[in-house]
Amino acid sequence: MKTVYLDNNATTQVAPEVLDAMLPYFHDLYGNPSSMHSFGGQIAQKLRDAREQASALIGATPDEIIFTSCGTESDNAAIRSALAIHPERRHIVTSRVEHPAVKVLCAHLAGQGYRVTELPVDKNGLLDMEQMAASLTPDTAVVSLMWANNETGVVFPVEKAAELAHERGIPFHTDAIQSTGKIPIDMKKNTIDMLSISGHKLHAPKGIGILYVRKGTKFSPFLIGGHQEKGRRGGTENTPSIIGLGKACELAARHMGTENTEVKRLRDKLETELLKRIPQSRVNGDLHERLPNTTNISFEFVEGEGILLLMNEYGICASSGSACTSGSLQPSHVLRAMGVPFTMAHGSIRFSLSIYNTEEEIDFVIEKLPPIIERLRSMSPYWTSVAQACATV
Ligand code: PLP
Repeated sequence: MKTVYLDNNATTQVAPEVLDAMLPYFHDLYGNPSSMHSFGGQIAQKLRDAREQASALIGATPDEIIFTSCGTESDNAAIRSALAIHPERRHIVTSRVEHPAVKVLCAHLAGQGYRVTELPVDKNGLLDMEQMAASLTPDTAVVSLMWANNETGVVFPVEKAAELAHERGIPFHTDAIQSTGKIPIDMKKNTIDMLSISGHKLHAPKGIGILYVRKGTKFSPFLIGGHQEKGRRGGTENTPSIIGLGKACELAARHMGTENTEVKRLRDKLETELLKRIPQSRVNGDLHERLPNTTNISFEFVEGEGILLLMNEYGICASSGSACTSGSLQPSHVLRAMGVPFTMAHGSIRFSLSIYNTEEEIDFVIEKLPPIIERLRSMSPYWTSVAQACATV
């Protein structure tokens, strides 16, 4: 059975060019870039190339790129650095819809005595910037807001938010893990201090990330050890993955146009056709301020898990907006923050596309999903009573 992979916000396939670029560095060219001999030294040059490729994607300079082990490490390193630089400040501003890499860290820090303001979002998943500005105090050590949401694809105006934070002398971090490679990012055109990237969301392998730190931003390392990354992140470099991520960044820059034309067209086709063919369905998240590859659709009166299981029988991969926690299905914190009604939140599915998806795959999902929803609804007591009520009107 062919796999139709529409779960690219969870992880992406490693691009063939990325794999090819990486392979020699596992076996033939396994030297340590810190070694004095040229067998290792030649790898140091490859890391410099990767740093150039990564910085070019986001309009940064190579010195502003720190390679990390993943997006979660980048988020942790950024927020902890800001707190370490301003130990007298005890307040953090973030949002209610952050990824656990930020949200759970902030909850942990709250347990250590920090005051955390989680900004609310409206029904479309958007932030109120006046409320954001009003939340800042002389005690605020850092503002951390995601560039794009992993569940809905909703894009926050982080460049504006960074300016508001700077007016009050507060450093600004953004988790750009979902936006990098999907929408243009140019660090020359904004004032964001720190920005997180994860390799496996842009066709590089898992277990490699980047923390961008703007030149001149005070930084306190998270991992302390060797001199690697100019002393900003100790640990022998993951050379094959860094080289792979460099290549992935080069490809992402090349494919940015495709993301915003062809990928968006396929996403829009999928969304429009599903909404047309399936009654009581709706999109979660702002339709305009949104990544080109993501749609989060609620199908009322069915469980997301049920939809995923039946789609799985056709090889279709997506994600649901609820997580099975201690036996009860909890709608995601993102949909709850947006006030998505219970019966809608439970039946929400996130489809996230990539440049590797085809028209045939989208047509296949458009054909297979409506009967799946119909079948699940025929088993749902809620749906049966709604259908009966509609029939008697
Ligand atoms: N932040 C966001 C918005 C994400 O989507 C993810 C991964 O799903 C992460 C952080 C964590 O990245 P990583 O898996 O590289 O630790």
